[in-house]
Amino acid sequence: MPAVSSTTAQPTEPAPARCDLAIVGGGIVGLAVARELIARNPRASLCVLERETDIATHQTGHNSGVIHAGVYYVPGSLKARLCVAGARELYEYCEQRGIANERCGKVIIATDASELSRLDELQRRASENGVPGMRRIDAAGIAELEPHARGIAGLHSPSTGIVDFPAVARSYAQDIRDAGGTIATGCEVQSVQVAGRSLSLAHARGTTEAGHAVFCAGAWADRLAVAAGADPDPRIVPFRGAYLRLAPERRELVRSLIYPVPDPSLPFLGVHLTKHIDGDVLVGPTALMAGARDAYRLATVRRRDLHETLGWPGTWRMLSRWWRTGAIELRHAALRSAFVRAASRYVPELRVGDVQPAFAGVRAQALARDGKLVDDFVFSHTERALHVRNAPSPGATSSLAIARHIADEAERAFALRSR
Ligand SMILES: Cc1cc2nc3c(=O)[nH]c(=O)nc-3n(C[C@H](O)[C@H](O)[C@H](O)COP(=O)(O)OP(=O)(O)OC[C@H]3O[C@@H](n4cnc5c(N)ncnc54)[C@H](O)[C@@H]3O)c2cc1C
Repeated sequence: MPAVSSTTAQPTEPAPARCDLAIVGGGIVGLAVARELIARNPRASLCVLERETDIATHQTGHNSGVIHAGVYYVPGSLKARLCVAGARELYEYCEQRGIANERCGKVIIATDASELSRLDELQRRASENGVPGMRRIDAAGIAELEPHARGIAGLHSPSTGIVDFPAVARSYAQDIRDAGGTIATGCEVQSVQVAGRSLSLAHARGTTEAGHAVFCAGAWADRLAVAAGADPDPRIVPFRGAYLRLAPERRELVRSLIYPVPDPSLPFLGVHLTKHIDGDVLVGPTALMAGARDAYRLATVRRRDLHETLGWPGTWRMLSRWWRTGAIELRHAALRSAFVRAASRYVPELRVGDVQPAFAGVRAQALARDGKLVDDFVFSHTERALHVRNAPSPGATSSLAIARHIADEAERAFALRSR
């Protein structure tokens, strides 16, 4: 199960004083981008700078582990395009590298008539997005796929699956090393300065002068973008997502992945029941605004993070719109029975005694000044640099496609000549 620093840490490599390309952030997105850039530019020197003592310790190591098929996203959006392509490429990659994965499929369940129009809209989006094999099912169809689940109608997405994203990230890291790249951990980038024809990145282990940089810093993306001269809008606001797990003797309640019909105006998918590649069945996550960008424990509060969240006008605009949802989330976070009751709408047999506490993740969610939770992926530029400013779910699924998108952008912006 996820840990903030895993025991599989690679011996850390020294950060170079100079390189052609620096990637800041060793999560799945940064590693995928580094892998793609070094494959296209084998003669370039490339370095990944990661602040923790190991890679993949933040969002990449604390999520649902689901390879999304692209059902939910607005047709034509970056999420729609990059998720559908990314899922296809990720399955192929896992097959080639022998990384355990399972195309177990998922059901999205409507439990009452008020959800049917949203189910129709999801079906329309899935079809426009080119999600393979998606079909409408009735109550009997739900029971056939998930004998312990109940609903009046649903959608079945057979191409949705599960994987261990940290294992994928470790494999990308190996590809980078095999291609001659460096991954330096314990290297928190603290300042960014344009210095003539390079960027000067001051970090915990010295300074690296990089020709160009791509920032893929997840929960800290806005801070680094601002340090590099970008607009502070959007700001990252951390949303904690806590999970429960089914007791081993109750895992038979869930065969694959059971999801609710989400509220289309929120970027979160709602409490779901998901089989994990290691055999666990997770229930969650909650979605509670957190007091720190690394609030893996509910009580973790960091003064700077809190100050930045509360000092952002968008936070108050969002809260005035979503306070009821916030109150429900608070109840789910505080009361296990309320959390389990929400999940038992789909699996009525589920009881508080069937679950145990599991882990929590922290979503790096971009929040605009006007109070909108930014739904799509956001990428932007500053001098000699590109920034990934919003890559929440399905960012892990989409990592290989995001990497291609960023590498295309880098070729244009940095005038890189590939190969
Ligand atoms: C609860 C939850 C459930 C999710 N479920 C799914 C799912 O089922 N499927 C899916 O596809 N996606 C899911 N996601 C989203 C997915 O996890 C993210 O989209 C993905 O991991 C983003 O990867 P990343 O590399 O951008 O961010 P991260 O994994 O957070 O990596 C960012 C890295 O940048 C480093 N960094 C930050 N600041 C600095 C600095 N100053 N200097 C150096 N390094 C720095 C951090 O230490 C970190 O390692 C989920 C996310 C959460 C939180």
